[in-house]
Amino acid sequence: MKITAPELFSYPKYWAECYGTAPFLPTSRAEMDELGWDSCDIIIVTGDAYVDHPSFGMAVLGRFLESQGFRVGIIDQPNWKSTNDFMELGEPNLFFGVTAGNMDSMINRYTADLRLRHDDHYTPHGKGGKRPDRAVIVYSQRCREAYKSTPIVIGGIEASLRRIAQYDYWSDQVRRSVLIDSGADILMYGNAERALAELANEISIGRDIKDLTSIRGTVVIRDAAPGGWVEVDSTRIDWPGNIDKISNPYEMTDTSDPSKCSKKSDNEGDGNASDDSSALVDDDAPKPLRIVPMPLQGKEKLDPATTYIRLPSFEKVSKNPILYAHASRVLHLEANPNNARTLIQKHGTKEIWVNPPPIPLETEEIDGVFDLTYQRKPHPKYNDAKIPAFDMIRFSVNIMRGCFGGCTFCSITEHEGRVIQSRSQESVLKEIENIRDKTPGFTGTISDLGGPTANMYHLNCKDDTIQSHCRKLSCVYPVICSNLVTDHSQTTSLYRRAREIKGVKRILVASGLRYDLAVLDHEYVQELVSHHVGGYLKIAPEHTEDGPLSKMMKPGMGAFDEFKVLFDKFSKSANKKQYLIPYFIAAHPGCEDEDMVNLALWLKRNKLRVDQGQTFYPSPMSLATAMYYSERNPLEKLSYKSEKMVVTKTLEQRQLHKALLRYHDPDNANVIRDLLHTINRRELIGDGPNQLVAAPSRPTRNERGQTQHGSHRDSSNRNSSDRSSSNRNSAGRTNANRNNANGDSNRANSSNHSSGRNSSGKNSTSRTSANNRSANSSANGSNNNSAQNANNRSATSNSSNRTSPGRNNPNRKAGKPDSQNRRPPRKRK
Ligand code: SF4
Repeated sequence: MKITAPELFSYPKYWAECYGTAPFLPTSRAEMDELGWDSCDIIIVTGDAYVDHPSFGMAVLGRFLESQGFRVGIIDQPNWKSTNDFMELGEPNLFFGVTAGNMDSMINRYTADLRLRHDDHYTPHGKGGKRPDRAVIVYSQRCREAYKSTPIVIGGIEASLRRIAQYDYWSDQVRRSVLIDSGADILMYGNAERALAELANEISIGRDIKDLTSIRGTVVIRDAAPGGWVEVDSTRIDWPGNIDKISNPYEMTDTSDPSKCSKKSDNEGDGNASDDSSALVDDDAPKPLRIVPMPLQGKEKLDPATTYIRLPSFEKVSKNPILYAHASRVLHLEANPNNARTLIQKHGTKEIWVNPPPIPLETEEIDGVFDLTYQRKPHPKYNDAKIPAFDMIRFSVNIMRGCFGGCTFCSITEHEGRVIQSRSQESVLKEIENIRDKTPGFTGTISDLGGPTANMYHLNCKDDTIQSHCRKLSCVYPVICSNLVTDHSQTTSLYRRAREIKGVKRILVASGLRYDLAVLDHEYVQELVSHHVGGYLKIAPEHTEDGPLSKMMKPGMGAFDEFKVLFDKFSKSANKKQYLIPYFIAAHPGCEDEDMVNLALWLKRNKLRVDQGQTFYPSPMSLATAMYYSERNPLEKLSYKSEKMVVTKTLEQRQLHKALLRYHDPDNANVIRDLLHTINRRELIGDGPNQLVAAPSRPTRNERGQTQHGSHRDSSNRNSSDRSSSNRNSAGRTNANRNNANGDSNRANSSNHSSGRNSSGKNSTSRTSANNRSANSSANGSNNNSAQNANNRSATSNSSNRTSPGRNNPNRKAGKPDSQNRRPPRKRK
């Protein structure tokens, strides 16, 4: 049954409502004085410049809390080296809300190859260095130092995706939940409006934040699991076989004596009972009513309201990659707000308690959030400084939140959820009129009408009851679910109505298109192609080969071909020369050298040249990151016998895969030739139409016979672990990497026909991929949520693909930082 929540705007207004709406939320004492405020009720600390626009998390949540009657101040990009900036607005009456900003601070600051970025698209003038690494932790600590007893609430993409123990690519280790490391009181994940409204209301009426342990969409620290609950024990994957024949040996018959639960649990099985149960033998701690091992949970009806799932502890997942992958799988299976159960994970002596996800916003509610009084521009204190992320989205409109695609490299689903939350057409059209009337520099073009995906507007499961029982990771993989509504008529009608707005000359769609869905509605494709493509349309097959595609949960190329036929047909009938720009990810888990070679051949056959390649970026908590770390596939049930996956890990091989995306770049030719020799595909060397790289003018090392260097490996001898990238390090590849680093200037857009300019006339380096999307979801989703829009993604992607000065340094040796390029400290195993 669909679970409901109190209406978002139904909470009683706080008394400070009488101050009305601030022109901009104050960022200094002087601004507070002008507003007549003696203090702030809530202060939001953020790593981004303050832009009062619904694509920026601090603005969405700040304006939302203001609408509830609270006085909200903003501390933007504080100097984290002292507490001065954190005390600028005084002590908040209720709490600090801390966010890293629209992006995870580590993704913001480092490239997928772990090089330091020197710019920051969320900062005036795009200057880097205005936020610390792991900003949520650093900011929270400064807040605590400034005001010891003020409650601290953390949220945004960085906190959201680090809510339980998570693999951290930058340090190459599993880190504890950020709630523990930050010392904050409560963590909000996903779209935070509902949780914030409830929390702010409760604290404002005098409740202690420590007592607010059951708000949906929040994570808290407990000393022990509460009594009266049923624990589904998922700490192990080695349950004995044939369990159906065993009567439940763990179940308490006498529930009046909970201590027997722990005894039974400890004695059962193979004697390796989880150390997670240690808390249960503490006589003073509350006890669960009983413990049910995970394999037996389906044998009876357990009430999700009083059932929690115990994940393997931080200590276990940090040492055992298979258990880590298992924990990741369980977390993703508990993502549907209508059936998700609470999760618990022990960290030392503490328990991380993850309440179920927030209930998605209804259309009227999300309209209310987007209709708040935004100035739609940066705070005036920045004068005319350009904030690149704002420039990318100032003329775009986000029409929905969420994504049911479930792509494993992407964090949108983990953050915003699988249920699509769509705005009404009226609300979207009103925003377009606002842009026309209020945004300086508007020339009549809306640069994007989209969202996390261009064409999921108002698409959802056809039946609430079915949806509330569903635990599938994707509604469109491996095939489009028969229960999914795929009728795009709402989007088509929105496009038509938007085009009719006076003063609007063009409406473009720049968000990534889910083409496997689009082909099911030819009328939609015709409408899109005839009126809303600015010359180029971004689509993201991400790969061409079934191996990596199956690990990404992406459709095969059949759907792409089908869409291309329609695209060409409708472009022709509209008398327009238009092109598809496909995006691909190199070095994704499950991708072998041969897969990348086949992808390069596909590019050549289709006369496409990718100017910019994206290497897989293991962002926190995604399923693909669990694959990367564990080398196991969490899309399937795991055991210690689960087969190892191919995972590309070394910088050298990651860059080799990326070089294959740009097979046409002469700088990459040597390394590609070396690879073709290694994998016995020499027939692809030459100038023929079916060959990948020209023959060398001078023989390469492989051709000379490289056994003298010991670098040649006979591919016929390779086993799957040989293929694991971590074992590779040929001289040729290092050389290639150098070439790639050199040539990897990530020039603006791709394709043979790309002009490097997007439809709005700006340089576009936009790229849709894991990190881009995740970063972007912060942009929008962040603490919050909001505007997951394509242009945001572009902005973010841009930042994740930018070239740092060091990357262009021809003397730079791949994998070694130079004085201009710093990597985060990293412990290599
Ligand atoms: S039943 Fe199908 S359409 Fe409905 S939520 Fe599940 S996967 Fe999605």
